[in-house]
Amino acid sequence: MIRQQALFYHSLSFDLFDFGMSSIKALLWLAAAALTAAQDDTSQMCSVKMERVTVNNCLTNAKVPQASVGSDSYKFEINPYNTRVPYTPAAVAMPTTAKHVQDAVKCATQSSVRVSAKSGGHSYASFGLGGENGHLIVDFKNMHNVTVNPTTFVATIQPGSRIGNVAQALYVQGKRAMSHGTCPP
Ligand SMILES: Cc1cc2nc3c(=O)[nH]c(=O)nc-3n(C[C@H](O)[C@H](O)[C@H](O)COP(=O)(O)OP(=O)(O)OC[C@H]3O[C@@H](n4cnc5c(N)ncnc54)[C@H](O)[C@@H]3O)c2cc1C
Repeated sequence: MIRQQALFYHSLSFDLFDFGMSSIKALLWLAAAALTAAQDDTSQMCSVKMERVTVNNCLTNAKVPQASVGSDSYKFEINPYNTRVPYTPAAVAMPTTAKHVQDAVKCATQSSVRVSAKSGGHSYASFGLGGENGHLIVDFKNMHNVTVNPTTFVATIQPGSRIGNVAQALYVQGKRAMSHGTCPP
C-alpha cells in the first residue's frame, strides 16, 4: 500500500514536473515563434524600404509622376476600399501617359518589384494594392479619357475611368447608354 502510494506520488510529481517542463517548452516555443515572426516582419519592412528607394529613384529619373511616400496623396491612394486588408506598396506611380506606364513597369522590373495596376481600387481583397506588401502600384486615377468613334460608336476607354466618366462620355459623344449601377454626377 505504502509502496503503491509512493509510486502514485512519484508518478504525480513526475507528471507535474513533466507538465511544467512541457509548459515551459511551449512558452519557449511561442516566444521563439513570436521572435521569428517579428524578425520576418522587420526584414519584410526593411526589404520594402530598400525596394521603395530603388523604385522611387527610377521613377524620378524616368519622370514618372508618383504619390510621394508620406504625402496626403500617398496616404489617400493606399487607403484600401476594404479597410480590413491594408497593404504597404513599395511606391505608387500616377501615370498620365502610356509612356509613363511603360517606364513604371520597366522600373519595377529593374528593381525586381512586383507591379500591380489599380483602376477603380474596389477589389475587396485589395488586389489593386497588390494583395500583399511591396508592390509598385500603377494607379490609373489620372487616365480616365473616354472617346467614342462617331461612325463605329466604338468607345476607347482609359483604365482609370469610372462608371460616371464612361456613361457621360457615351451619351455626350454618341447619344449612347449602357446599363450600370449607381452613378452620382
Ligand atoms: C459597392 C460595390 C459594388 C459593386 N457592384 C458591381 C456590379 O454591379 N457589377 C460588377 O461587375 N462588379 C461590381 N463590383 C465589383 C467591382 O466592380 C470590382 O471590384 C471591379 O471589377 C474591380 O475593378 P477595379 O477597377 O476597382 O479594380 P482594382 O481594385 O483597381 O483592381 C482589381 C484587380 O485588377 C487588376 N487591374 C486593375 N486595373 C487593371 C488594368 N487596367 N489592367 C490590368 N489589370 C488591372 C489589379 O491589379 C487587381 O489585381 C462592385 C464593387 C463594389 C465595391
